[in-house]
Amino acid sequence: MAFRKVLAVKTARFVNFVSKKLGKQGVTMAGKYALKVYPNLLRDLSKEVREKIYVTCGTNGKTTTNNMLANFFISEGKKVICNRTGSNMLAGVVSAFVLEADSKGHIDCDVAVIEIDEASARRVFPHFKPDYMVLTNLFRDQLDRYGEIDITMNLLNEALDMAPDCELIINSDDVLVASFAEKSGHKYTTFGISEPCDENPASTTEIREGRFCMFCSSQLEYDFYHFSQLGSYHCPKCGFKHPQIDFNATNISLSKGLKFTIEEKKDGEVVKTRDIDANYRGFYNIYNILASYSAARYGGMELKGIDPILKDFHPENGRMESFKIGSTNVLLNLAKNPAGFNQNISAVMEDDSDKDLIVVINDNAQDGRDISWLWDVDFERFKGANVKSIVVSGLRAYDMQLRFKYSEIKSKAIMDVGDAVKYMLKGHTDNLYILVNYTALYSTRNMLKSMEKK
Ligand SMILES: [Zn+2]
Repeated sequence: MAFRKVLAVKTARFVNFVSKKLGKQGVTMAGKYALKVYPNLLRDLSKEVREKIYVTCGTNGKTTTNNMLANFFISEGKKVICNRTGSNMLAGVVSAFVLEADSKGHIDCDVAVIEIDEASARRVFPHFKPDYMVLTNLFRDQLDRYGEIDITMNLLNEALDMAPDCELIINSDDVLVASFAEKSGHKYTTFGISEPCDENPASTTEIREGRFCMFCSSQLEYDFYHFSQLGSYHCPKCGFKHPQIDFNATNISLSKGLKFTIEEKKDGEVVKTRDIDANYRGFYNIYNILASYSAARYGGMELKGIDPILKDFHPENGRMESFKIGSTNVLLNLAKNPAGFNQNISAVMEDDSDKDLIVVINDNAQDGRDISWLWDVDFERFKGANVKSIVVSGLRAYDMQLRFKYSEIKSKAIMDVGDAVKYMLKGHTDNLYILVNYTALYSTRNMLKSMEKK
């Protein structure tokens, strides 16, 4: 079998090389072909991980959380394997391992930190059993890809049944995640934000999944919401309530980057505090930082060297990525689903200066053809956010315009994204936000990059 393993490694390298030459994303293809050559490849390679295997699941924030966790381990001197590009289905996970293997088919790895698509976990777990699963949140994603949220939870459960010793690191402010963890029977630790944050502009009118208790179906009561279904909740009937928070964010400030303190608790007592000062924007990123921090601390890391990682963070792939074009500051952000969009709206509102806005909506296969979710986003909130003008763009620009119209918000439709940006660069506020959904991201990002160079 050693021969087939080595052949699989060579195949992966070759496919990766050729795909890159052809300008395609080769990462997934490499894993796919390698697994065909040697089906036990991932099982064999993952056995060589010397310490722990972490996986990160959840609707939003997976890539940010997982990559940050990988950086935390690297700062502790660990050799890490991580699927950084966010290729999070089976083939992408295989690629992450196989492309790190030497020509004899071995890896040199202390910790594997792997992002996995919720629906793919049950295909990955037959190959390896993770020690820890980080669960960021469970929001409704593109409807035609995942169906309802309980299907996602069933798929995750199916995967966890294959890894009975896997411990969970969960966002306990998300009632869906907390209920899931409680029902799963797995050991878990929690992170969250125990008090409402004054600077968080999230509305209280957002849609909320999981308003009903998953144990007795009664309506849940909330003391407060952070956003979506995240907040402090309890069931008045069966006694199910927000679990105690083991890693709690407090003293939150959003005005210049993110500043907060993490309190680590044991049996309700604070045993350690840690001040966080991060070059991130958006309230929701507190959760991403908390998730990575809790996961690494729970795994026994000291995390002495993480300050530079948090301070020097440069968002990639259009997650709050900034560009300077002429005199205009442009901030690009991806939003794939209603919860993501609502978080984006909050992030725009955290900036109280005047601004312009472009919203780009496509309906290609990867976006989900069904764009009825636009009606689940609280676009009304842009009214109070010093937004001076709005342009809608992309394949479904007119649907977006109609959505704004129903919120009594004026917008201009410019079908071509490039034309939309050029329009905004002249005679506007010099503070431009661009919110895009999935397939609009890469073209918009490349265009902004080339405009920035000129
Ligand atoms: Zn209940």
